[in-house]
Amino acid sequence: MIVCVEDELNIQELIVYTLNSTGYKASGVSNGVQLDALLNHQIPELILLDLMLPDESGMDILKRLRENKRTKDIPVIILTAKSSEMDKILGLDSGADDYITKPFSMLELISRIKAVLRRTSKETSDVLVFRDLKMDLSKHIVMVENEKIALTLKEYELLKKLMQNPGVVCSRDMLLDEIWGYDYYGESRTVDVHIRTLRSKLGKAETYIETIRGVGYKLID
Ligand code: CA
Repeated sequence: MIVCVEDELNIQELIVYTLNSTGYKASGVSNGVQLDALLNHQIPELILLDLMLPDESGMDILKRLRENKRTKDIPVIILTAKSSEMDKILGLDSGADDYITKPFSMLELISRIKAVLRRTSKETSDVLVFRDLKMDLSKHIVMVENEKIALTLKEYELLKKLMQNPGVVCSRDMLLDEIWGYDYYGESRTVDVHIRTLRSKLGKAETYIETIRGVGYKLID
C-alpha cells in the first residue's frame, strides 16, 4: 500500500482517492505521529511525503525513516509546494527517491509512482502485520502466532480491510460496500455474521478486532 503524508486534507483525499481508483491501495495521514502509528503495523510499499507539515517537517520525517532499520528502504517521493524549496532539497542528499512540485496532475503523480516502484521493487512482499497476526497478501495466507488459519474469501477481505486501516473504525456500510459491492442487496448484519466467524477462527487474535457499537469494527489500539 501507498501512504500519503499530507496535512492539507483536500489534497490528501484527492491523492488517496485517485490511487485507490487506479488500482493501488492507499491511505492518508496528516503528520509524523500518524505515520509512525501506521508504520508500527505495516511497512508501506511507498510513501508520498509532503514537506510542509505542521509539527515535524517532511525532511525530518524522511531523516528518521532512513535512520530506522525497519523503514530505511521504503521508497519516498517528496511533494513540495515551491520550486525554490525543491532547489534547496536537491542540494541536500535527502535520501528521497523522487520529488514532485505542487501543483501536479494526478497523471504525473501516478507515472512518478510507477517509475519509483519499478526502480525500487525488490522482493517487496506485501505483508500486513498486527502483533502476532500476519497476512501475506501475495500468498493469500493468514497466520496467527505462525500457525496458518483458513479463512473464507469474505473473512479474508474483512480482515485485510481492518489490517490495512489499523486503529481506524471501518463502518459496516463501508465494509459492505467495499467487500460485497455497492450493488449487493443485503443488510449490514451480513458483516456482523462474517466478523463472528472470522473471530472464531482467529484464536487468541480474536480480541484484536474491536466492536464499535452502532458503527462497525476496528483493530484495537
Ligand atoms: Ca503541507
